[in-house]
Amino acid sequence: MSTKEKLLVSACLLGANVKYNGKNNLINISKLKEKYEFIPFCPEVEGGLPTPRPPSEIVSNNPLRIINISKVDVTRYFLKGAKKALNICKNLNIKKALLKENSPSCGKNFIYDGSFSKTLKAGQGVTVALLIKNSIKIFNENEICYL
Ligand code: SF4
Repeated sequence: MSTKEKLLVSACLLGANVKYNGKNNLINISKLKEKYEFIPFCPEVEGGLPTPRPPSEIVSNNPLRIINISKVDVTRYFLKGAKKALNICKNLNIKKALLKENSPSCGKNFIYDGSFSKTLKAGQGVTVALLIKNSIKIFNENEICYL
């Protein structure tokens, strides 16, 4: 059994083809393997959405509302994925997560603004918001040096 600290990682950053377009966001984080055991996770897939899937954006935070580009409300899938992420963190005693910036699930500092025009605004993805609320530390792919 590994004694390394566990790190929740956006599955797409590890090369899993789980992005909305069926691709991934692979980055080289092999150095982190010396310190962490990676726990790959994709909140949108775990929430029940297919891959590929239409892109989704958060259109309202209060109340939370997420729609895909075809205007279908997909909020419940995002919430389910976020809850599953939190459960995994609790069950495996995970305190840190490395998550993909700009995603409506995994974005830490920026998300798309809900207009489907590739416009970013300051904000958090659904999974990130729930994990932060539960004291899990979030890092994006530009903050790997802090891990
Ligand atoms: Fe990657 Fe997160 Fe999007 Fe899944 S939801 S594809 S893990 S950024």
